[in-house]
Amino acid sequence: MEDILRSGLAELGIDVPPGAAETLCAYGQRLLEANAVTNLTAIRDKNGVARLHFLDCAALLKLADFAGRRVIDIGSGAGFPGVVLQVLQPDIRLTTVDSVRKKTDFVRETCASLDIEAEILWGRVEELPRLRERFDIAVSRAVAELDVLAELCLPQVKPGGLFFAMKGPDCAEEVGAAEFAIKALGGRIRGIERYAIPGTDVTHAAVVIEKQKPTPPQYPRRFAQIKKKPLRG
Ligand code: SAM
Repeated sequence: MEDILRSGLAELGIDVPPGAAETLCAYGQRLLEANAVTNLTAIRDKNGVARLHFLDCAALLKLADFAGRRVIDIGSGAGFPGVVLQVLQPDIRLTTVDSVRKKTDFVRETCASLDIEAEILWGRVEELPRLRERFDIAVSRAVAELDVLAELCLPQVKPGGLFFAMKGPDCAEEVGAAEFAIKALGGRIRGIERYAIPGTDVTHAAVVIEKQKPTPPQYPRRFAQIKKKPLRG
């Protein structure tokens, strides 16, 4: 796994801090072991973890300057992308949120045992008001359609900050359908950045959204409302 990571990170143009490749290998090992007894991820082999989790998430580091930023990963699951970003850019101040307890337990135990600094929160993000407009950057992968996701994520970003929604390559229609919601929540779509995951024929995309002004206080609504009536023009 270490060779795949080192060559993939070099291909992406990402500097690897001392000890980071070893830490990611240990994280991958823990993930595969935990996954054998409890379902945390659909990817069940070392190569897949290295490429489709670690290198995919690492690619975000080329899209903005994360140094010293306060970052929130919403719907982090087993720690993606947030924990990978934290290992590769250790001066990030990371908060992860997930609504499933066994996932936050796994991330908390993994961070404690591998000395990874992070605040790990269990709960639905829309029910945690103390997070509001506290973060320079929000990131999220594979959590919801963008119009729903924007209501979960944009309220947590400070005006002037960024939100990266990680998507498949054919996301243009989904992005268009979310334009109204993003504007209503104080954001603006900057663009879609596509990238190839080294060692695969997979292309992924990150939708880059700027937070231009504070989110109106009525958002986020309760999840049932968000899901039933996503913000649409
Ligand atoms: N981001 C991870 C990844 O890419 O591997 C996990 C993706 S998983 C498909 C979606 C995760 O989002 C689940 O772990 C789920 O519990 C979490 N989630 C969905 N809605 C949420 C919400 N409103 N607040 C917090 N977590 C949420």
